[in-house]
Amino acid sequence: MVAGREVSREGSHGTARECLKDALGRPLNDLRLSVTDRCNFRCAYCMPLDRYEWINRREILTFEEIVRLSRIFVSLGVEEIRLTGGEPLLRHKLCDLVGRLAELDGLGLKDLSLTTNASFLGQHAAALRRSGVRRINVSLDTIDPQKFRAMTRRDDLANVLQGLLTAKGLGIAPIKVNCVVQRGVNDEDILPLTEFARRNGFWLRFIEYMDVGNANRWESEKIVPKREILERIGARYPLEEVGRSDPNAPAVNYRFKDGGGDIGVIASVTEPFCAGCTRGRLSADGRLVLCLFSDKGVDLKKLLRGGADDREVASVIREAWTSRRDRYSEERLEAMNSGSYRADSRRKIEMISIGG
Ligand code: SAM
Ligand code: SF4
Ligand code: SF4
Repeated sequence: MVAGREVSREGSHGTARECLKDALGRPLNDLRLSVTDRCNFRCAYCMPLDRYEWINRREILTFEEIVRLSRIFVSLGVEEIRLTGGEPLLRHKLCDLVGRLAELDGLGLKDLSLTTNASFLGQHAAALRRSGVRRINVSLDTIDPQKFRAMTRRDDLANVLQGLLTAKGLGIAPIKVNCVVQRGVNDEDILPLTEFARRNGFWLRFIEYMDVGNANRWESEKIVPKREILERIGARYPLEEVGRSDPNAPAVNYRFKDGGGDIGVIASVTEPFCAGCTRGRLSADGRLVLCLFSDKGVDLKKLLRGGADDREVASVIREAWTSRRDRYSEERLEAMNSGSYRADSRRKIEMISIGG
């Protein structure tokens, strides 16, 4: 497979777009765009339990900078943008940003979505829909109020559920509910969450617990592998495999044989999908991060604030992406299988600063 650029895609205005390929032949198709590192929750698997130094507000990208960078990314082949954080709905006037990003559809952007903890979704769902968000992913690991409080260190389950139902009532679809499963923490919630999603027509996706960052004290014993998740659900609600929605999608989908809908499993640890990883990440302070498990990023904000023009910024992104060889999860599995894996053996960016 060859790294490089092809001029192949077209925006609806007929503008030629590049299709960048990295060193392993993977195109730059998706951009996870973190709009803030602030969060009102304190999920232990994502944030350091003790002190976390928030990014200085002056270092956070402005809306103008985000839109400008997004336009450049779209010209380089990005077709999907997912807003994330921290908690994206904490960013003041987020809907204004959504409206401006939605206008990039004329240049080739096909999908604009949001990942949220849903705490403030009830307040913002209508405006988000008007501004152009087509799909929403909500992170919800339990519907047990006590466990919710223990996992997020906030007493906010009622607002999250109300946010989900408001979004559903407005016709936002699909609404995906993402649950990270940890053994001994919320593995008993697999069935209650499945039943909650079936009742409400949400598309539930289970995610294997990952060793992101260095602060969450990850232990491999806490992973509940995809196989076990499927066994537990299948014993009550028989499933049949549907496959991935597209070859590069992280989730493998399954259908309830009784017609009760679909679920997905993202087996990031036991069945890594680096070979199809077309995702770049832009941190809230403007660093292009090539892999969830990187320890650094390419500082695009410095270029913008130093007066670089779009052509120069595009050339730095091109250089970074075409050199990309990251395949951390595949390497982790190889190391786990050979017994050489050590959880803290390398420095990684914390999840809260780059989004999921
Ligand atoms: N605050 C928003 C939310 O929770 O949806 C967006 C940012 S959050 C970092 C994005 C996603 O990362 C969430 O679905 C969260 O569950 C997931 N996540 C965080 N830490 C994780 C870990 N150690 N393993 C797997 N997923 C994780
Ligand atoms: Fe906040 Fe989302 Fe991280 Fe939880 S997973 S601490 S809600 S950013
Ligand atoms: Fe992509 Fe890195 Fe995750 Fe592999 S480990 S799927 S390269 S983000």
